[in-house]
Amino acid sequence: MDFALSPEIRDVQQRVRRFVHEHVLPLEVDPQAYDEHENLRIERLDALRDKARTAGLWAPQMPRARGGMGLPTIGLASCYEEMNRSIFGPAVFNCAAPDDGNMIVLNRTATEAQKERWLQPIIDGKVRSAFAMTEPAPGVGSDPAMMHTTATRRGQHWVVSGRKWFITGADEARHFILIARTSGDRRKGLTAFLFDRDQPGWQIARRIPIMGPEEHGGHCELVFDGLEIPDENRLMEVGEGLKLTEIRLGTARLTHCMRWLGLARRSLEIAAEHVDARDNGRHKLAAREGVQWMLGEAAMQIQVGRLLTMHAAWKLDQGDDARKEVSMAKIAVADVLQTAVDTAIQLCGSKGYSKDTPLEWIYRYARQARLVDGASELHKMILARHFLSERSRLWRWD
Ligand SMILES: Cc1cc2nc3c(=O)[nH]c(=O)nc-3n(C[C@H](O)[C@H](O)[C@H](O)COP(=O)(O)OP(=O)(O)OC[C@H]3O[C@@H](n4cnc5c(N)ncnc54)[C@H](O)[C@@H]3O)c2cc1C
Repeated sequence: MDFALSPEIRDVQQRVRRFVHEHVLPLEVDPQAYDEHENLRIERLDALRDKARTAGLWAPQMPRARGGMGLPTIGLASCYEEMNRSIFGPAVFNCAAPDDGNMIVLNRTATEAQKERWLQPIIDGKVRSAFAMTEPAPGVGSDPAMMHTTATRRGQHWVVSGRKWFITGADEARHFILIARTSGDRRKGLTAFLFDRDQPGWQIARRIPIMGPEEHGGHCELVFDGLEIPDENRLMEVGEGLKLTEIRLGTARLTHCMRWLGLARRSLEIAAEHVDARDNGRHKLAAREGVQWMLGEAAMQIQVGRLLTMHAAWKLDQGDDARKEVSMAKIAVADVLQTAVDTAIQLCGSKGYSKDTPLEWIYRYARQARLVDGASELHKMILARHFLSERSRLWRWD
């Protein structure tokens, strides 16, 4: 067992760290840098993206031949964590959800022609993308069998009708991946498609207000009323929509964990600074045992999350689908993020509750982690299924 990072990955990790420190973190304290949805203004983001590209820190999850950095998943784990030490970080390096997961799944499943048309512009940072699966009740949420949106074949086209919601980034996206029902088959009833924002037959009904700060493009409700998709824009085979979703979510869930660990670490760093500086003349806060228990507990939880994430990343790099490892990481890191930021707010006292630090931003953002890309309860059910069939083999190392 070797926990050391290769010199190449370590080099990229250090360069990302320096870039975030020099160019991204300073923007967090500039009120002018924020848009009305509490994210980085697009013009500021675009300027930083140019800088990141020039520094050779761009699209690390994509192959070099397409303009990315070709890092393995363990390399992504070590870099994404550094990126999201700033609330603005991942988008700067083209590593933010949902583009990140969309690029990874298109790279794995699209034909070469589809990659040129739909993937390359996302890699190049020319367009943003969205992934449309979830529907308002009574449609699909945790249970994919509840899909109501249909795509009906008419000659060389598919005609889509239905409704989606919580589609991250939709208000800014040009390229959409859509999952729709094409038959009543339980396993093979869903199919994945691609469509462009300019195609007629669909619209954004609203940008859903949420409790936390928003990704660029928000979280939108979409209505489909006769959108026509040529069959050449179908992804994978008819009936393989669920398979594509599973391929996407495997890595996308884990890259969420990698980013969330960055936010968790940052939260604890802010708390450490505060308790180390807060001094009544006899004791620093950091010298109090009660404070140390809180810091120690949160620091340990972060490391548990990092180990689970890195192990799942390593399994993915071995060609394993790492379903149980990704589920474990997703459950644990969602909790770690909430624990870390809650601890940090508590230790910073009233300053933690103010907008003078990004802690309250992270706190509101963190609540989605236990819901998105499979609620924690769903992942626990997956683990229970594995445990019941594997029993003590669940914990084997090979
Ligand atoms: C910020 C945000 C961004 C999102 N972005 C996207 C996106 O880009 N694209 C997209 O398609 N979707 C997106 N979603 C939707 C997200 O993936 C769903 O919310 C999630 O899959 C859960 O579905 P649901 O909300 O319909 O909950 P439901 O299915 O209604 O479940 C509600 C709750 O019931 C419990 N539960 C459900 N099923 C079970 C079960 N079998 N056993 C035990 N407990 C259960 C869980 O606690 C769950 O949280 C986003 C959601 C959020 C909050």
